[in-house]
Amino acid sequence: MTRYAFVIDQRKCIGCHACTVACKAEHDVPIGVNRTWVKYIEKGEFPNSRRYFLVNRCNHCEDAPCVTICPTKALFKRADGIVDFDSERCIGCKSCMQACPYDALYIHPDTHTAAKCNYCAHRTERGLEPACVVVCPERAIIAGDMDNPQTEIAHLIAREPVRVRKPEQGTKPKVFYIGAEEAIINPEAASQELPHMTMWGTLLKTGADEAIFDGGESLRAPLTGRDKPPGAINRPLRPYAPTEIEAGTAAGGRVVYEPPTNSTKWGSKVSAYLWTKSIGAGTLIVAALALALYGLNGINPSMNALLGIGAPVIGGAFIAATLVLLIVDLKRPDRFLYLVTKANPTSWLVWGGVILAIFALLQAAWFIVALIGLPGVLLGLLIPTGLFGLAAAGYTAFLFGQAEGRDFWQSQLLLPILIVQAALAGAAALGLLSWALGAISTISAFLTITLLIAVVVHTLLVMIEAFGAHANSHVAAAARYMSRGGLRELFWGPFFAIGSIIPIILLCCALIFPSAQPALLGFAGIFALIGLFIYEYCFVEAGQIVPLA
Ligand code: SF4
Repeated sequence: MTRYAFVIDQRKCIGCHACTVACKAEHDVPIGVNRTWVKYIEKGEFPNSRRYFLVNRCNHCEDAPCVTICPTKALFKRADGIVDFDSERCIGCKSCMQACPYDALYIHPDTHTAAKCNYCAHRTERGLEPACVVVCPERAIIAGDMDNPQTEIAHLIAREPVRVRKPEQGTKPKVFYIGAEEAIINPEAASQELPHMTMWGTLLKTGADEAIFDGGESLRAPLTGRDKPPGAINRPLRPYAPTEIEAGTAAGGRVVYEPPTNSTKWGSKVSAYLWTKSIGAGTLIVAALALALYGLNGINPSMNALLGIGAPVIGGAFIAATLVLLIVDLKRPDRFLYLVTKANPTSWLVWGGVILAIFALLQAAWFIVALIGLPGVLLGLLIPTGLFGLAAAGYTAFLFGQAEGRDFWQSQLLLPILIVQAALAGAAALGLLSWALGAISTISAFLTITLLIAVVVHTLLVMIEAFGAHANSHVAAAARYMSRGGLRELFWGPFFAIGSIIPIILLCCALIFPSAQPALLGFAGIFALIGLFIYEYCFVEAGQIVPLA
């Protein structure tokens, strides 16, 4: 079986960028994005310093997470091991960029579809070598079939001490490096100076630097006490490195040249999607729970207005908003139907769409049945609606789990957090509605207790995420950025103080003063929903702050 791979010999590489330029010419790659690029770092202090290079590109992974997550099979693995792409199928969802641990993909600025190194498949099929291989003046890039024992690449892999980028990700990369320095192959190991100070690298607009590089407190906790080596100074503008690997240790180094990052982030629309989905799913979960607890026989007109009609109206509106957000976040929203017509069954984006669609139908059925007054049928809808509500709330844990480039999102706590968020959002939304419709004491007390428990549990789980043991330095850096770095003001202000502590106080008061319960519940719901939105924003942002290449 043929398995094409690359060997890149960093002992020979002179950092000339010929491979980058040849690739750009071969594939007409626009300015600002790259299929292959060369990163420079330096170690030591002048005059005892040395420069190292690393040629970056798609690793044509054996177990490619970009292929698994791609909802339309626009990314696919060929029989010869090349991971290729089909622009005609791409909907621009950017999920491949979250799944790739190597920052290999970019969105083409003209077609708005994903692209990357495809091993010059058009050349390879004709027996030619990839353009980067042909142009390299040092023969530092070797391409070929690693399964054929006659090839040079097979010999090199067998004979030399090769290594790959991030083997711990389990993707089985097929770009093998010889002589790659730890500080350059591990993107978290080297610190980054201000980009405008790097060679040829004016990456940011003048004056924008300070807003982005926030006093070094982004990812790196300032060194203090025993951690601070003698004579070391905390440089204010070096955000990209965890404390564990400090300049001056064997692994330390500083990035002196790197092109702009390829990946297009998931932004505020994804944060908003998490928020609207929590409200849409949670409203029906909490309503189903209330109806199951209080029974349908005694359902009175105001209970019916709140739980029978109001809950599916709110839930339906927010699930519709969720679907709209998902579509408008696509770089090619005109192709959103490809999610159905070209669906990839391994992608949780596809399964998420199916779950949301079925849940929306159940909500519509719930609304109609409550409107025409069929309590028996409504009883039959409680369990399926509740279960699909839980699925709608929780499937994102599996979707984010497929985003293998973002270790912060791989948390085992994510599923329970999403379920608790749904309970929080559902109780808050129904609390507001019950206040607007006129209080129903039993339901008001139920919603008050539900919201109080949800806010307390959510806050505790988030604190465990932020301050508990972290799986690796990537997760630790993202958690630090959220709670002590660039997002700390949002985290401790709108999320913790306004969105957690104030609702807890208001809800405790609501339990002590039943006459004021509806209003206190309503206000607590407003603050809790604000806090939830802010947390979703922090979670999505922090997950993407750690550099991948
Ligand atoms: Fe290439 Fe990244 Fe996909 Fe691996 S996960 S095949 S490096 S794009």
